[in-house]
Amino acid sequence: MRDATYDILFEPVQIGPVKTRNRFYQVPHCTGMGHRYPRSEAAHRGVKAEGGWGVVSTQETEIHPSSDLTPANEARLWDAKDIPALKLMTEAVHAHGSLAAIQLAHNGLHVANRYTRHTPFAPSAAVVDSDDPVQARAMDKADIKTFRRWHVDAAKRARDAGFDIIYVYAGHDMTLLQHFLLERHNRRSDEYGGSFENRLRLFREVLADTKEAVGDTCAVAVRLAVDELLGAEGLRHDVEARDIITALADEPDMWDVNLSDWSNDSQTSRFAKEGYQEDYTRFVKRVTSKPVVGVGRYTSPDTMVRLVRQGHLDLIGAARPSIADPFLPKKIEEGRLEDIRECIGCNICVSGDNTCVPMRCTQNPTTAEEWRRGWHPEITTKASMAEKHLIVGGGPAGLEAAHVLAKAGHEVIVAEAGREWGGRVSLESRLPGLAEWARVRDWRMGQLQTMPNVEMYLESPLSEEDILEYGIANVALATGATWRSDGTGRAHRKPLAFMADAPVLTPDDVMRGGLVDRKGPVVVFDDDRFYMASVLAEVAAAQGNEVTFVTPSAVVAPWADHTLEQGRIQKRLLELGVNIVPLHGLAGYNDGQLSLACSYTGAARELSCETLVSVTSRNPNDGLWLALKAREGEWAAAGLARVASIGDCHAPGLIAAAVYAGHKYAREMAGEEAALREDRMLAD
Ligand code: ADP
Ligand code: SF4
Repeated sequence: MRDATYDILFEPVQIGPVKTRNRFYQVPHCTGMGHRYPRSEAAHRGVKAEGGWGVVSTQETEIHPSSDLTPANEARLWDAKDIPALKLMTEAVHAHGSLAAIQLAHNGLHVANRYTRHTPFAPSAAVVDSDDPVQARAMDKADIKTFRRWHVDAAKRARDAGFDIIYVYAGHDMTLLQHFLLERHNRRSDEYGGSFENRLRLFREVLADTKEAVGDTCAVAVRLAVDELLGAEGLRHDVEARDIITALADEPDMWDVNLSDWSNDSQTSRFAKEGYQEDYTRFVKRVTSKPVVGVGRYTSPDTMVRLVRQGHLDLIGAARPSIADPFLPKKIEEGRLEDIRECIGCNICVSGDNTCVPMRCTQNPTTAEEWRRGWHPEITTKASMAEKHLIVGGGPAGLEAAHVLAKAGHEVIVAEAGREWGGRVSLESRLPGLAEWARVRDWRMGQLQTMPNVEMYLESPLSEEDILEYGIANVALATGATWRSDGTGRAHRKPLAFMADAPVLTPDDVMRGGLVDRKGPVVVFDDDRFYMASVLAEVAAAQGNEVTFVTPSAVVAPWADHTLEQGRIQKRLLELGVNIVPLHGLAGYNDGQLSLACSYTGAARELSCETLVSVTSRNPNDGLWLALKAREGEWAAAGLARVASIGDCHAPGLIAAAVYAGHKYAREMAGEEAALREDRMLAD
């Protein structure tokens, strides 16, 4: 039973004509599924409702072909043919007694209309905000009228699809309605531009249109960005946003408030802690009597209670916490706080949308596999017969496999060579800004330690001889990977001979304290192109070294663009005084001098270098696998039935991929069907 402290979180909230069953609100968020994978989308949202989220929203939903986000997989409601796909979602959500919300969007100059070839619309003529060589044209009065009609038509279609809450959306610097509000996009001189009242006009009209069209049966919510973190150059919570909310105070049925752009709204744990939006959204409830929802990567039920009690929010909004744990509300309701699988704030989920594929989550490997593989985040098929399993390696892959196998009823032994659990996650979580990543280890350890059918041993490096001697039928090797020191990566596909004579430290060396006693200039060479090299540059700078960051890429950590971090990472390094040398590879090392070569011309450049931190790629730790494989003929006699290698020792990758590999292995061992269901657009 739950603690009465949390009762307040289970109170219903009236939103216009509809009432929620509690205060847990999954705000609109992208999934990388949308209109292209409608059954996967519906199953994903349905699981959230099953897990107790009182409101479950779509992602942004294109209302017309002139708002075509191709190739991104957003939701789509261009015409009545799109209704059945969305109905799958509302039915999945209603089946569990929750409300379904839809975020209607016209993306204005945020789209290039790559598929439909419509000319994009904007308040004023402007280049679109992607890199496409496309300009948007200024809308005339007739266009504005037409747009209002499209929005009304889409709202009616949304109602017909079964949605309970319909959004009017002005956020993330992505929508026409926000473009009209902002002076930098709206340079009009008619009654839709210029003064504050004029810039607000279209928003006010669309809100009224939507209420008139569907307001008798559906709640009409506004999603408004209250700050862009641009100072006077953008929208500010204490100036324009306050004026907007004051002007429209009780016109919508609910305010959903957040930061813009998306990189400010969905900040990672490396750059922001839980509740990072509070200073910007606190004022909202003071200027409206309507319910307010806000976000801030909330995973702590005590924080949620505080927010409601202090009159800051009426509904606890969540995107990422609901992905990492779709059953978060249910776990609070049932008094199982220790079972909550907290989001680590890594934004690997976001990278799915940004690379136009169904998202994956580091903490929840069942994400986006609810329909395709039939995986439920809380339920694992019980094994028909309990078997013995040995897991070698206690990193994310090993711990996840152990947990799921144990849940299925098997007897599990985990052997870890080191003195602590967690493998790479334990090491990486000690790096600057990455502390929350330890939750990957801590949640799994918390679960495993309560299970009677699990034995866990530290300081137990196993050899092939040991494994054959133990004769445990099922063996999974999860022995991880080791960073290379020879320069091999994307830019240099073969080992660089001179690296053997250079003062090289790998990330593994640095994470074990290798930089501590180094003096003199440090060069960080990054050919990995995600987070690791930039974090190590921070470590080096914090130790007072002169640091140069060299990369064959044009910018620092280009893949971090997909996790919305690239700009923040580059800014941080610049602020720390790190000298950045883009578009260069390594060419040689001699007596304290590192030679670089321009990626385009090959032109040489020299740098003083007493320590070279080389971040290129990793070798799988597959020695044990190869040694066992070489003795496959002895397996049966020794009692071994199956041996597999999983996670980074199979192929190094993201932590999310290691967790997924451990999960998949365990599901398959538990006898679940490996068959995949293909999903695609219903309209095809
Ligand atoms: P993954 O991400 O695939 O889980 P990690 O590198 O995080 O990989 O974890 C691998 C773990 O396996 C490390 O903690 C390492 O100490 C452990 N390990 C490696 N080789 C052995 C071995 N022969 N016996 C037991 N544990 C091992
Ligand atoms: Fe949280 Fe990372 Fe999962 Fe996204 S991928 S929900 S940020 S743990």
